[in-house]
Amino acid sequence: MLNIVLFGPPGAGKGTQSEKLIEKYGLLHISTGDLFRKHLGEGTELGKLAKSYMDNGNLVPDQVVIDMVDDRLKEVGEVKGIIFDGFPRTVAQAEALDTLMNGKNTPISGMIALEVEDEELRTRILERGKSSGRADDQSIEKINNRINVYKEETLPVADFYEKQGKFVSINGVGTIDGIFGDICAAIEQL
Ligand code: AMP
Repeated sequence: MLNIVLFGPPGAGKGTQSEKLIEKYGLLHISTGDLFRKHLGEGTELGKLAKSYMDNGNLVPDQVVIDMVDDRLKEVGEVKGIIFDGFPRTVAQAEALDTLMNGKNTPISGMIALEVEDEELRTRILERGKSSGRADDQSIEKINNRINVYKEETLPVADFYEKQGKFVSINGVGTIDGIFGDICAAIEQL
């Protein structure tokens, strides 16, 4: 199985590139942000719990996220592989994901990190906010908080995969197809 962690700050293009990867490699997409937004939309208890964290751009507590991913993985049948998008976002989540995937004998193949400068991220997220309807895309304070949370809590996850020899960095600025080409070249090397 080809199991990829697509990594990068908010606004790096993970969602856009995931769509193209799903199409090319026939992978299943697991985005924790999308799963939380679905719960939010359906008004579930989990959605209510996650809402204040999400609205302010803070991370939902690890165990809540891990349990949600565990439940989602239990539903997965025969697949060619999985793209994890927006997960893991802490080292504790990365450790839990390794335990879950190794337990299924389908380890993570590699992490692909999209690198984009902060100023470009702010511009992209504000632009997306015009149509996304996402509360966390609307204000510069919330966007800055998400970027800070990424640097403080999420960046160490890159080291976690680097130590396993599974980390690949890609320049996330350029044309969508150009970046996609670089990602595909990296995948062929995994
Ligand atoms: P995203 O769509 O990936 O930007 O996620 C939107 C929001 O959902 C984040 O700002 C967090 O509040 C929450 N979230 C999504 N994935 C995670 C995760 N892996 N760990 C903690 N919180 C998450």
